[in-house]
Amino acid sequence: MTDYLSQELQQIREQGLFRTLRRIDASSDTETVLEGKKVLLFSSNNYLGLANDSRMKEKAIEAIKQFGTGSGGSRLTTGNLSLHEQLERDIASFKGKEASLVFSSGFLANVGIISTLMKQGDVILSDSLNHASIIDGCRLSKADTVIYNHVDMNDLEKKLQSVTSYQRKLIVTDGVFSMDGNIAPLPAIVSLAQKYGAMVMVDDAHSTGILGKTGAGTAEYFGLTNQIDLLMGTLSKSIGAEGGYVAASHSLIQYLRNKARSFIFQTALSPSVVAASIEGIRIIREERERSVRLLENAEFLRNGLKKSGFSLVDGSTPILAVLIGSAQDAVHFSKRLEEEGIFAPAIRPPTVPEGMSRIRLTIMATHRQEQLEYALHTFVKIGKEMNLLSTKNVMQSK
Ligand SMILES: *Cc1c(COP(=O)(O)O)cnc(C)c1O
Repeated sequence: MTDYLSQELQQIREQGLFRTLRRIDASSDTETVLEGKKVLLFSSNNYLGLANDSRMKEKAIEAIKQFGTGSGGSRLTTGNLSLHEQLERDIASFKGKEASLVFSSGFLANVGIISTLMKQGDVILSDSLNHASIIDGCRLSKADTVIYNHVDMNDLEKKLQSVTSYQRKLIVTDGVFSMDGNIAPLPAIVSLAQKYGAMVMVDDAHSTGILGKTGAGTAEYFGLTNQIDLLMGTLSKSIGAEGGYVAASHSLIQYLRNKARSFIFQTALSPSVVAASIEGIRIIREERERSVRLLENAEFLRNGLKKSGFSLVDGSTPILAVLIGSAQDAVHFSKRLEEEGIFAPAIRPPTVPEGMSRIRLTIMATHRQEQLEYALHTFVKIGKEMNLLSTKNVMQSK
């Protein structure tokens, strides 16, 4: 009966795309243990180091002592703890919106928000490099979806002109794109949305805690908080815990609370992760120096790699996409990095286009200068071995 599965798995293997899990034996810190071996971690979303912060752990432990390990029910039945309500107030205030709603993950938030708000007769305009959870939200919605070319505002405008007969329109975009690390052109998106009467939703998974004066993300970074209808994000990246959320107007939040199936039919997040999230947001708002340090660290490595002749996708975030070329070369590069004690995965098609395989680095605020220097030195060493360094880039960046 399941022969077709092994056949397909065999095909995946032959294409060099078979996926396996790597086992981590310690916390997600700058130094961790990969299958028994100490490595420097350059691929964690724990950007600010909060997932292993002692204050976060204390709050999680206190919450377990007071409320137990599980919430025991969905939010609309018996699982709605005072902690959930406090977290939602804190998120709304952090994001500068009237209200917020917490889901069990960012994935479930995107799926729930998009599929609930957009109905038959509506249209969703979605950037071609949006996160998989946005894509699945669009697929689950009964609305039509139109994909516009990545950050291409001429294309977005053309597509908006072709959908004027639809009832409601929603433009949805990642704030910072997870594979390239570039920032979405929100000022242009907002002005097109106003011109053509569309709502705007931004997924700030990779900018919350990092960009903007208070760390609220790309909307704050561009001063557009009031112009963006839905600010979605995750509690699992810089906030260092788990869960997803959306911040918006009272009426939007009330609507989602009543209608979003991935909110209604899910057990409420457990007390420990909610308490940790509350503490993570507090720390982010009070210790702005963490994100300053993070961006400085990223800038140091980005500049160093460019000057050494690597080509990187342009950006100014802690996601560094170091272009290698073929999938085989990227995989070999990543394997060599691991032999030298650095864990950073190769990203291959179909996640990225053919010939654009890359090493995707994520920088942390807690990376020490000598760790960054070691990474740079190791990249250059492997780049030379593999003959990947372009002298053209070296000249240009001088
Ligand atoms: C990680 C991520 C998500 C999903 O968030 P989880 O909390 O991990 O489910 C959604 N959107 C983007 C852009 C992400 O990077």
